[in-house]
Amino acid sequence: MNDCLFCKIIAGEIPSKKVYEDELCYAFYDISPLAPTHFLVVPKGHLASAAEITAENAAVVGHIYAVIAKLAKELGFADGFRVVTNCGAAAGQTVHHLHFHVLAGTTLGSFN
Ligand code: AMP
Ligand code: ZN
Repeated sequence: MNDCLFCKIIAGEIPSKKVYEDELCYAFYDISPLAPTHFLVVPKGHLASAAEITAENAAVVGHIYAVIAKLAKELGFADGFRVVTNCGAAAGQTVHHLHFHVLAGTTLGSFN
């Protein structure tokens, strides 16, 4: 995906502040944080959004949640955090490479 911002970040063509990396995913701090801790976790393989998750490629999503749980313990926010995925422009998705926002470090408002 030549034209994808997050593919370029994963490839190191655009700088980012890395939180974590393995063979399947990359995590980096959001450039416009909405909480004291706010980073994004993305699969290294390009998927445009959560609407492209299928039985064949879904394993990476479980892997990413396991990475998030591990980072929550290591970074000290396992007591309270939020994972958000905006899917589609109508839901506020601005970068069309699947990503999981991880927000922590403050009292997070209720959605309901
Ligand atoms: P979304 O609106 O759900 O698509 O989220 C995209 C997120 O990417 C936003 O929170 C942006 O602040 C963040 N973002 C955009 N460009 C960069 C960048 N170069 N490095 C880090 N985060 C970015
Ligand atoms: Zn991409």
